[in-house]
Amino acid sequence: MTIKTIFLDRDGVINQDTGYLHKIEECNFINGVFEACQYFDSLGYKIIIVTNQSGISRGYFSETDFQIITNWMINQFKSNNINILDIYHCPHLPTANCYCRKPKPGMFISAKDKYNIDMEESWMIGDSERDIRAANLAGIKKTILVRSSHKLNESKSNAMFFLDSIFQASQIIIK
Ligand SMILES: [Zn+2]
Repeated sequence: MTIKTIFLDRDGVINQDTGYLHKIEECNFINGVFEACQYFDSLGYKIIIVTNQSGISRGYFSETDFQIITNWMINQFKSNNINILDIYHCPHLPTANCYCRKPKPGMFISAKDKYNIDMEESWMIGDSERDIRAANLAGIKKTILVRSSHKLNESKSNAMFFLDSIFQASQIIIK
């Protein structure tokens, strides 16, 4: 039995990307993110967050700080009737050359193995080419880039679709 999943980047897709976000009071959710996730759930998708968090290795915040804001975010989703299946994060520096930091596919592969995810039936929604690259390397072809956090070079992108924000994903993901 496999499951289908919507993989979400965090900063810029779920919440506004303020740069190394780690304080609850500075977290602003993207408009419509809860409605979008309720819609994904209604289509039978599980939701998994995959996020680069090099701020931990840079010493900007601790693993504990990350867990505190993560638990708070999960509870915000819960109070909107959304279950986040799992959250994967890479705490390493870009120079660490680890297998988990996007554009490497490690976090996706870990999730795939743990939950028996059908990658062909799954989607990635990100805000950077790194997200698309990592998803493609993990076998996910259905990808969306959102414009909600920074300018995209859409002509050079490997993403399948472009949207202003996650709120519009219901225009693309229809089954
Ligand atoms: Zn890593």
